[in-house]
Amino acid sequence: MEPLIFTLPLMQMASGDTLSLQVYEFTGATAGKTAYIQANLHGAELAGNAVIHRLIQHLSAQPPDYLAGTLRLVPVCNPLGVNTRAHNFASGRYNPYDGRDYNRIFWDYEKAAGDIAGFAEAHRNSAAADILQAYRHQIQAAFQREREAIQAAPHLPVHQLYRNQLQSLALDADYVIDLHTSSNRGLTYLYFMEGRSLGARLFNLDFAILLDDYDGDAFDEAFLKPWLALERSLSDLGRTVQFDLEAYTLELGSGMDLEAPAVERGYQGVMRYLSHKGVLEAPIPADVPEMPLSRTSQVTKYYAATGGLIESRVDPGTWVRPGDGLYTLLRFNKSGLLPEAVVQQSDRAGMVFDVATNRAVNQGEYILALMQFD
Ligand SMILES: [Zn+2]
Repeated sequence: MEPLIFTLPLMQMASGDTLSLQVYEFTGATAGKTAYIQANLHGAELAGNAVIHRLIQHLSAQPPDYLAGTLRLVPVCNPLGVNTRAHNFASGRYNPYDGRDYNRIFWDYEKAAGDIAGFAEAHRNSAAADILQAYRHQIQAAFQREREAIQAAPHLPVHQLYRNQLQSLALDADYVIDLHTSSNRGLTYLYFMEGRSLGARLFNLDFAILLDDYDGDAFDEAFLKPWLALERSLSDLGRTVQFDLEAYTLELGSGMDLEAPAVERGYQGVMRYLSHKGVLEAPIPADVPEMPLSRTSQVTKYYAATGGLIESRVDPGTWVRPGDGLYTLLRFNKSGLLPEAVVQQSDRAGMVFDVATNRAVNQGEYILALMQFD
């Protein structure tokens, strides 16, 4: 099976060079769902590109009846960020020009749309498949109007160039997988949204975090949030529907790295997920693995209480109890005193899952993140 490869111009640089996106699209012998997978939206988060490479290699060696539907893959989906590279020290996560987080720029139909409750009322007695089709059509029409409006304007800021291209590639998908890594050093896990814990478990990563607090401008959120709003509106009318639409953000290890175990787990997770969903004809392991679940509201980030150098700290994956040491900060001073090493204790139980790569912190800068499970 050969992918269709096409290149989309993204933006022209001051030098005259054009930054582009290259899309690899596999189409199966039979009709089916559409899965969209991108990687490296944050510039320092490289591992997902290796997962996509593995998927391309694997699918290229398979016959067309291996795939039902469409698998659309976009590696290095943010060329500007990828070339900017680094993370907390610099700006691969943020556009240096306008300061925006590349993954907080997306168009949220729920905010743009208006009357989702009215739509639910009008379609409350329709078949679920008909509701899905009508609502998707409405989202795509609204997105098209938005695109036409901004294309007609003689100005288009960078974040809109990005979001227009990336969202136009994913809007017709059923399953969206956004491959990230930590900005720092982290474990292998994923974010999921309401009602999608079963799908989240298929990836079989270290754990999964429910987005219980979100505003819809991240890529996965922007895709699924309008559908969750519709599901809630229908539920208010006594109609229980869960559409077979899902979006996940995978975090595959550390920034500025392609850690082989994280790449392998990401690849195996995506394969397992797509097989369970019937997109791939790969053999499906019968069991759905148990995976510890948490939620974003149960994540605590620790920031430096004073400036200093992090002499030691716990590694990602370390479980702590209240009173256990999290890190030791070496503090120098300009007040004629000897330097001191201060141990910061944890004020709660949980697991440390992400730590700063940077060891020199000013007061208030990020050191590590700890999570409590459900
Ligand atoms: Zn990221």
